[in-house]
Amino acid sequence: MTAKPDIKSLYRDELAKLCDQPYRADQVLQWVYQKNADSFAGMSNMPAALREQLAAQFELNAVHSVHTRNASDTTEKFLFQLRDRSLIETVLIPATPGLTTQSDRHTVCISTQVGCAYGCKFCASGLEGVKRNLTAAEIVDQVVHVQRLSGERVSNIVVMGMGEPLANYDNVLRALRIINAGWALGIGARKMTISTVGLAPRIRQLADEPMQIRLAISLHGATDDVRSQIMPVNKKHPLQELLDACDYYVNTRQRILTFEYILIEGVNDSLDQAHKLGAIARRLRAKVNLIPYNPVDGLQWRRPGRDRCKMFAHTLKSHGITATLRTEKGTDINAACGQLRLQRQNVGMPEHTVADQ
Ligand code: SF4
Repeated sequence: MTAKPDIKSLYRDELAKLCDQPYRADQVLQWVYQKNADSFAGMSNMPAALREQLAAQFELNAVHSVHTRNASDTTEKFLFQLRDRSLIETVLIPATPGLTTQSDRHTVCISTQVGCAYGCKFCASGLEGVKRNLTAAEIVDQVVHVQRLSGERVSNIVVMGMGEPLANYDNVLRALRIINAGWALGIGARKMTISTVGLAPRIRQLADEPMQIRLAISLHGATDDVRSQIMPVNKKHPLQELLDACDYYVNTRQRILTFEYILIEGVNDSLDQAHKLGAIARRLRAKVNLIPYNPVDGLQWRRPGRDRCKMFAHTLKSHGITATLRTEKGTDINAACGQLRLQRQNVGMPEHTVADQ
């Protein structure tokens, strides 16, 4: 890795301190974030000598696009290469049912790690372990590049790509503060959702942050025995510890929590689990997103039948819970953070579609 600082990892005041003339920082930031400059050389209103100096002093691009693909439903998938040649994926989604409103048109799903250490049994990334955390610049640059490549202004961020965001807490929060800043991308904190596997101490830390970021918990089981069967993290942070942290988050932030629940046949799709999930969600006043599992090559898990999924959703609703059930059109990009990458490696670059409610 280079020793030069990445501009997109820096807050405005940090950049100003590194510029010979601090007022230049605003000019540079405007080129980077408003004008989507791809090189220092292209920052045409600055003296040539200064552009050369900036290029010698800073890195501008932390990611490079190596592949873009449109899916049939207008979802657009980007494969980015990092400087160490690691690959990550970012997805531009026209809408994210259950997480954003129908009027939110340009949601970007970003990655936060290369691989993942948490080894959820149903997920692709867990098969390979974690390689490293992404830097703040590598996280911010996914959004900058998606805007540049798509020509669309991004309105929402979901931190649900590869990796566990709260395991890379400092870089993720730094990146989201930059994405939120008026001098950078200006995307509202309430338009950002972090999805976590359930790192209870970090959920409490997030609750104490001033930013009003939304939180989604990958629950996938309403009892310890079911959750531990598919999510090793449950042994480290059992359900009660996780739910206590959720209590703290809800009470501290006064924010609605979302539970993500992937329905896997014969594992967590019983009506007993639905009743228990309903009781948990009602106590926390949480919404539930039900996601029928997307089978992954090499993994044994299967998707329940449609009637089973509907019955599960109906049972939840009988507890007064707001629950959405996604109807598959193809591969659901939100089903598990890591499913994207494994499928790309196994079968090339498949299309991923976001299903309707
Ligand atoms: S589902 Fe998320 S947390 Fe679990 S292994 Fe996959 S990437 Fe990691």
